[in-house]
Amino acid sequence: MISVSHLTRTFGSLRALDDVSFEVARGEVVGFLGPNGAGKTTAMRILTGYLPATAGSARVAGFDVLTQSLEVRRRIGYLPEAVPLYREHRVSEMLEFQARLHALPRRERAARIARVLEQVGLADRRRDLVGNLSRGLRQRAGLAVALLPDPEVLILDEPTSGLDPIQRLEVRALIQALRAEHTVLLSSHILPEIEAVCPRVIIVDQGRIRADGTPDELVTRLAGASHVRLEALVGPDAEGARRALGALRGVRAVHDRGRLGIHHAFDVVCDEDLREDVGALAAARRWALRELSWRRPTLEQLFARIALGAGDDGTLLEPGGSARTPAAPSAAAGAPVALSLAPAAGPPSGPAAPPASAPVSSPQAARVVYNLNPFDRGATRSLSVPKAVEEPGAGPDGAAGR
Ligand code: ATP
Repeated sequence: MISVSHLTRTFGSLRALDDVSFEVARGEVVGFLGPNGAGKTTAMRILTGYLPATAGSARVAGFDVLTQSLEVRRRIGYLPEAVPLYREHRVSEMLEFQARLHALPRRERAARIARVLEQVGLADRRRDLVGNLSRGLRQRAGLAVALLPDPEVLILDEPTSGLDPIQRLEVRALIQALRAEHTVLLSSHILPEIEAVCPRVIIVDQGRIRADGTPDELVTRLAGASHVRLEALVGPDAEGARRALGALRGVRAVHDRGRLGIHHAFDVVCDEDLREDVGALAAARRWALRELSWRRPTLEQLFARIALGAGDDGTLLEPGGSARTPAAPSAAAGAPVALSLAPAAGPPSGPAAPPASAPVSSPQAARVVYNLNPFDRGATRSLSVPKAVEEPGAGPDGAAGR
């Protein structure tokens, strides 16, 4: 339905699009993802006939966007980022005017307008002045305009930008409902939104396509830094623990994430979920566990990796303090990258001082206690041995095994 071949667009010395090619099949919903200045709007404007390409070609429903522009426009509903609406019109008047521009037969207009107003949830606001609508409702009005000619293709440039979370959810639900009847190309920098709505994602950065696939495929194929997170009492020989973890079959690397209170954190980088192997090692070494989890990178982290660059060990993907600081995008890269990394939830940036009740240094020092639950009125249990084999009464108050 959409065929883009070696599309390039320059503005002076800036290559806003650089040799971009992709296909979108009929009925597909594709998310166009990229930081500010990546070239998303430029591509959409070329597809909708608002901007000529410098080189390359694009076809919509088999028609060339440059030489058969009218045919293309008949088949495309375009919601630009800044929705151009007639503020002094009432909603229904504006749609009536648009229907005339689209040369919809007079006898069909009323029914068509009623249908799109219903679709976008503006039926009860048809008498409102467009200028008096809230931003979210204006966005819906823009979508109504785009839907009016019942286009085969919908091109939506950041349809939820500037909306509050509730409005965003509503517009998202609306787009999901539209998927059944239209081919949709949707741009956004809101990754959860893209993940929720688009089975396929094209990531662009600095005018080039960096990745194309389902969110799951992209994360699996490109992120490459899935890991088991282990937090445990490993004693003073953290380096020995790190080596032991590194010796497990299937482990590609082990990153020491430092101490978290009395526990030590490691990321065991592996392609498969090795929690059982890591757990078995922890049991054999009598490391009391606080966390053993399997972590896969998210689309957001993958995107940050593509847009900002990261080491092969995937350190950027880890939202901990020990990840390397992403390089600031250069001026040549266009506008600043807008995406943030996942919220910091990892270890503190500096090595934490051991707590007053020092962690166990070996399986022999099994009397160290640690109160896990602030509501259990000071009850304690030893974390130096796994709960199942802990001796009764090991805690100072006899509350062992809690
Ligand atoms: P955003 O997410 O911020 O909307 P985008 O991915 O849509 O960004 P584009 O609007 O396509 O990015 O812009 C790509 C690059 O081309 C940017 O560096 C932008 O400044 C530049 N650009 C776009 N339109 C023009 C223009 N008419 N004249 C000069 N430069 C332009």
